Amino acid sequence: MKSIQEHNFSGERALIRVDYNVPLDEQFNVTDVTRIVRTKETIGKILADGGSAILLSHLGRPKGEAKDEFSLRHIVKTVSEILGKEVVFGGDVLTAEAETLCKNLKPGSIVLMENLRFHKEEEKGDVDFAKALARLGDVYVNDAFGTAHREHASTATVARCFPGKAFAGYLLYNEVMNLEKTLNGQERPFTAIIGGSKVSTKINILKNLIPKVDNLVVGGGLSYTFLKAMGFTIGNSLYEPDMLPVAQEILDQVKASGVNFVCRVDSVCADKFSNDANILVTEDNNIPDNWEALDIGPKSRVNIAKVIKDSKTILWNGPVGVFELEKFSEGTRAVALSVAATTLAGAYSIVGGGDSIAAVNKYDLGNYISYISTGGGAMLEYLEGKELPGVKALNEN
Ligand code: AMP
Repeated sequence: MKSIQEHNFSGERALIRVDYNVPLDEQFNVTDVTRIVRTKETIGKILADGGSAILLSHLGRPKGEAKDEFSLRHIVKTVSEILGKEVVFGGDVLTAEAETLCKNLKPGSIVLMENLRFHKEEEKGDVDFAKALARLGDVYVNDAFGTAHREHASTATVARCFPGKAFAGYLLYNEVMNLEKTLNGQERPFTAIIGGSKVSTKINILKNLIPKVDNLVVGGGLSYTFLKAMGFTIGNSLYEPDMLPVAQEILDQVKASGVNFVCRVDSVCADKFSNDANILVTEDNNIPDNWEALDIGPKSRVNIAKVIKDSKTILWNGPVGVFELEKFSEGTRAVALSVAATTLAGAYSIVGGGDSIAAVNKYDLGNYISYISTGGGAMLEYLEGKELPGVKALNEN
């Protein structure tokens, strides 16, 4: 995979796949500009070289139809403000006007094209549609890590229309390099903390991580299926009966591999899913009838903090409790603080997943994490060990 750093874009029209799938309010104002801000560096480098930028993105799920509510024209002004340069709206990618506009682009100009998902061919990875996109530019840059797990025309197929001229933007390149460093080039001990609500969404991550980590910390709603598999009582806690054999299989894999599996030793339970619930802190891993465990307990917090403190590489995905409710946020807070403190002491840490990022931000610890991955689904698939189609297309180029 070639980074844009290795190329001079002077006089070239760069077709840049960005992820401007941003949230809009009812007046079509962008309510979170993070995704736009994060493309500044890549676009800035291309323009500074003397190139021009043709931005391609999707927005929402228009399902192959042109619908105004999903038009990227709503965000042109915001993109312009953030990039600090005039951005021209280029309209639909298939039109002759778009072709003429792109053909006559002057160095330093930026064009934002219409939502690619107005054409169903985009999500099908259609070759002819990719060729139509390719006609608009001289080189291709993918800076949309968040959609790199999709085999779409603008994320994968189009890269093959630019042999030797397809590059990874800074955002995508950094995501891949940081994830790669974590999974395959890490300093030991390597600790993964996997939380969240369900075993079903994390099975493949857990299975892929076991041969790579020294310590596997499992927290959150998914731990109760494991506790059940270990023979504990779990009261009304979150439980996926059909995942019981999988949990058992993972526990067997853990045992055979010699990985230190850190679940919990106590829990904070509630009599209802609410901040004004009554609370019970268990002595051990058995949760009484009619109680629902919503966080790890105080002894578990200390145990997990110790494991994190002794690590040199830390990967954290998913909260260990219902941290959105203050009463059940102590466990996730302890994890966030421990990861940050250990990073300050010299460890490398990577945090990903919307909820873990929200937790890090809630405690204002973003500056003490080595890398925050905003890849969402793409990050999860990477952690599962899958080759992402968008990355594969660049690697083959
Ligand atoms: P996920 O989207 O699978 O990463 O799960 C994140 C959600 O898991 C968060 O909204 C947490 O509130 C929730 N969660 C964490 N711990 C528990 C728990 N013990 N019981 C129920 N939900 C939980």
